[in-house]
Amino acid sequence: MENQLLSLIIPVYYEQEVLAEAHARMDAAMQATGHPYEIIYVNDGSRDGTMGILRRIAAENPAVRVLSFSRNFGHQLAVTCGMDAAKGDALIIIDVDLQDPPELIPQLVQRWKAGADIVYGKRLKREGETFFKKLTAKLYYRLLSAMSAYPIPLDTGDFRLLDRKVADCFLNMREHARFLRGMSAWMGFEAVPLEYERQERAAGKTKYTLKKMLKLAADGITGFSTKPLTLASGFGIGIMALADLGLLALIVLAICAVPFPAWLWAVAGLLCVQGLTLVFMGIQGAYLGRVYDEVKARPLYIVAEKINCDR
Ligand code: UDP
Ligand code: MG
Repeated sequence: MENQLLSLIIPVYYEQEVLAEAHARMDAAMQATGHPYEIIYVNDGSRDGTMGILRRIAAENPAVRVLSFSRNFGHQLAVTCGMDAAKGDALIIIDVDLQDPPELIPQLVQRWKAGADIVYGKRLKREGETFFKKLTAKLYYRLLSAMSAYPIPLDTGDFRLLDRKVADCFLNMREHARFLRGMSAWMGFEAVPLEYERQERAAGKTKYTLKKMLKLAADGITGFSTKPLTLASGFGIGIMALADLGLLALIVLAICAVPFPAWLWAVAGLLCVQGLTLVFMGIQGAYLGRVYDEVKARPLYIVAEKINCDR
């Protein structure tokens, strides 16, 4: 197992402040694993000094490979590109900003060698991030796990190791709106956490703007749950039940000849129709959800192991 190739995948976007230091630590961590390795940098459309530094690093070290996007496609696609290019028996994904300490890489590899298919970093503490970011992240992960049909581990990012067979499944999933940690949960496999404390960014500012974060959050929910589509039906049924109760009350009042304003009939009738509309919107949502699932064209199932099947 010692000669199995490891691929380290690092997305980079305007990171000239941190790149040189990061590379030194990443390279040292990869050497410490004792395995042959490649380091794949994906430049996600940076126009600062990032490419210059990457060119220099690649010239000095043949284990370094660089792919540079024509424009900014976003972190998730940069990682996907790195995974497509990786040749390793295990792939490790890490941010360049040293928030996830590269020194943990040998431990990821150890757990992989002990049999894990996925080893994911689980954040115990997040240093140096704003209260807003920590709170929204915490709430979001909980909302996501409530909505998703598959358990997505709480408080994890994309810092993780994937065995080759897991990486091959990613190659088969070509959906455009990508939420890698959710896709990884959807695939199943034996996933083992590695707990760690998330550090402060070594230099530079976050490249995940609020807009990018919201898009990722929306991709996470819409990619893994069609519940929002059918939500309307639930409201519709509730409104119709209320309207029916109102109508019943009005009929009783009418029979008992108790006077009441006639517009109450209109209100109850309108509510009834509104409820019905919502129910049908939810039904349309259910069909739309099915179309969405078909369009994503994920594999129908994933076989993790075969015994006596290849003869
Ligand atoms: N990144 C990227 N494209 C983007 C935004 C970010 O490739 O559009 C990279 C960035 O260089 C870093 C990683 O993705 O290696 C995570 O970004 P960042 O650290 O800014 O996010 P945060 O940790 O603040 O959520
Ligand atoms: Mg970061």
